[in-house]
Amino acid sequence: MLWRHVRIGTFAILVVAGLFAADGAFAQYVAPKFPAAWTYEAPTGPAQWGDLDPSYAACKTGTHQSPIDINGAAPAELSPIKFDYKLTPLKIVNTGYTVQVNYGEGSSITVNGSVYNLVQFHFHHPSETAIDGQRADLELHLVHRNAQGQLLVVAVLMKAGSENYPLHVLWGKLPTDVGKEAEYKKVQLNAEDFLPNDHNYYTFSGSLTIPPCSEGVTWYVMQKPVEVSSAQIAAFAKFFPNNARPLQPDNGRGIQESSFKKSSAE
Ligand SMILES: [Zn+2]
Repeated sequence: MLWRHVRIGTFAILVVAGLFAADGAFAQYVAPKFPAAWTYEAPTGPAQWGDLDPSYAACKTGTHQSPIDINGAAPAELSPIKFDYKLTPLKIVNTGYTVQVNYGEGSSITVNGSVYNLVQFHFHHPSETAIDGQRADLELHLVHRNAQGQLLVVAVLMKAGSENYPLHVLWGKLPTDVGKEAEYKKVQLNAEDFLPNDHNYYTFSGSLTIPPCSEGVTWYVMQKPVEVSSAQIAAFAKFFPNNARPLQPDNGRGIQESSFKKSSAE
């Protein structure tokens, strides 16, 4: 499946280049042109990722891998995330691993004075992150990058309940062809519509949850889930029965939780 190698190669190079661009020590790093294909099932599943390709070593040797089970978070004086998401025309692609929406330029968040641009968002089934050992039905990952190439993921857990309207719009455009981005100029969406009203979060240091599992990714997991209907969960599960990496050891990395009042979070 040549397309898969080409696509993953491009993705990995972009991610790796972005992660190492800020670090002079890695300025000479050249990503392999065609990293190995990987899947969510053996023999090329999560337990094997670290052995599939030298550039995936962090999947096996990393100490701050994602996802994790969030428990025992420490309350801390934290700043609210300032969301500045704009409407964008829908650009959606089935990557073969998930459904991904590529976001137009000009949307960002600001945390602790640093601006991170929203690059794309995508979904996992079931959720990758667990809270007190419980996984949710779906998880949304909003992927951001700052000017230094550092990555930050805002994660929203989704559980069975009422229909989720913004998801209804997306699911109506789920692409079946893998690797081909479809653009709908007349369909406008705003990622803000996927967020819970309460913007309290858990935060910790982690990694990409797919190869090359690069670390140095800052995670912000919304404490409150949003609802999606069972039919919406089933519609995604039909394409992606399981695209969640197993939980990784916490290794005492320290998880902090915010506790601002709802009004100050908006
Ligand atoms: Zn993800």
